[in-house]
Amino acid sequence: MQSSEAVFAKSPTPIIGGKPEQSRGVGSIAVLNPSNGKKLSEIPAGSVEDVDQAVKIAREAFEKGIWSGIPTGERKKVLLRLADLIAREAETFDRIDAVEMGKPVSTWRFNAAAAADHFRFYAEATDKVVGKVLPTDARSYHALRQVPRGVVGAITPWNFPTFNAVMKLGPALAAGNSIVLKPSEMSSFSALRLVELALEAGVPGGVINIVLGHGHVVGKALAMHNDVDMVTFTGSTAVGKLMMQYAGMSNMKKVLAECGGKCPQVVFDDGIDLDAAADFIALYILTNQGQVCSSGTRLLVQRSIETKLLEKLTARFGKVHAGDAADPATTFGPLVSKPQLEKVMKYIEQAPQAGAELVTGGQRLLSDTGGNFVAPTIFRNVQPSAAIAQEEIFGPVLSVTAFDTEDEAIWLANGTRYGLNAYVWTANMGVGMRMAEAIQSTVSVRSGATTGKGSGHASTGEPFGDSGIGAEGGMVGLESYLRNHSVAFFY
Ligand code: NAD
Repeated sequence: MQSSEAVFAKSPTPIIGGKPEQSRGVGSIAVLNPSNGKKLSEIPAGSVEDVDQAVKIAREAFEKGIWSGIPTGERKKVLLRLADLIAREAETFDRIDAVEMGKPVSTWRFNAAAAADHFRFYAEATDKVVGKVLPTDARSYHALRQVPRGVVGAITPWNFPTFNAVMKLGPALAAGNSIVLKPSEMSSFSALRLVELALEAGVPGGVINIVLGHGHVVGKALAMHNDVDMVTFTGSTAVGKLMMQYAGMSNMKKVLAECGGKCPQVVFDDGIDLDAAADFIALYILTNQGQVCSSGTRLLVQRSIETKLLEKLTARFGKVHAGDAADPATTFGPLVSKPQLEKVMKYIEQAPQAGAELVTGGQRLLSDTGGNFVAPTIFRNVQPSAAIAQEEIFGPVLSVTAFDTEDEAIWLANGTRYGLNAYVWTANMGVGMRMAEAIQSTVSVRSGATTGKGSGHASTGEPFGDSGIGAEGGMVGLESYLRNHSVAFFY
């Protein structure tokens, strides 16, 4: 078991074929602690040659069948061991993420314990993959085999470094693929530790590899590589679109791209529990300081309860405990980087020019710490066309627009280029059903505080619009990492 201090004390290198490899890239990238701006470590800047080497080794491992060709029950045992190892080091993973990108260790959504459970879901699914036999006449036989795709390039963002890496590694390994993982240059250490643990659990060297460095060099080389069969990407819409271009410019590899969001919270005045709604809305914008793709960043509220709901939200926003993300008492950490801080502050400063009215927040916090803190912020009277209603800010900024009718609520909810998640608050089942059908996103409907936990790790989502392409999560997400291999016999 390793502490986060021990993980950061190592000199990070790519891990290829089961062992550390010196990067062939020139230079390094500083890794900073966003809670205080101090340098934590540095990673190699990476190179195209690193990617070539990792893909070559991953391909060899795949062709030899040391993972793709073994009984699924054997793969499952190894992956269950890995789930246990992740669970055992959950505290370390949470600390790594806290000091590297500012997710408070107190955060329970998408934390390392949840990542271990998510991994276990896929470990258990390993031997549940079945193909199909198609209807034929009596003298022929036609089957669809479900086979691994081959070499998968996985490119992940910084916002939940452990969880996002597990979301790729779990299904890709369960399906029998070989992997080259490329984490964000801002948060590579938890991914490095995951790869070390995978090797310890018994995933053969070469089946899992990691390369480090800049996205436009290392990530691009991976997504453009002619010997990579699939690229699975989580990150911004702009880079997700590049993934599709890279695939088109190289070998037409399969692209799974989970990208940005501008998710609505739609609140009707029809008898819902307003306190429960306020709790949920605050949680879904303040978790990880709003740096969550599924954050409910647009509050669309029926005009009659707008003022009352804003009072409740302002009270909740005022109760955050901002501070060092590694301190267990902290509920609200810093933004990941200075550029991210500047981006968020620019949106805040420009919002009034488009007619928005500041309700609370709007300023930096704890500047003397050297950390990238921004106060939880609410704007009301936000025009649907305003930048803060249309663009993904990726910070703790809630934009509020009032509506009068159900049709208006649907029009507003669908009024951005994104379609990731939508949260509807209504006590009227008919309204809930109509909203669920009409909103082009993954939709959840509530009327009050619930104890229901939904489908958990079996949950699947497939984005609409500029939020991405392809299903992730659950058994349907596992299918993204499998190829339908059609075989027919005639006799
Ligand atoms: P990003 O797109 O800047 O980077 C994501 C990854 O792509 C990183 O590893 C980066 O190095 C790499 N990359 C950057 N440029 C590249 C290029 N030209 N070619 C190849 N790779 C490149 O995103 P980010 O800032 O790290 O993460 C935040 C974004 O991730 C937000 O938009 C958020 O909504 C999105 N996100 C989406 C989901 C989802 O499930 N839909 C989940 C988490 C985060």
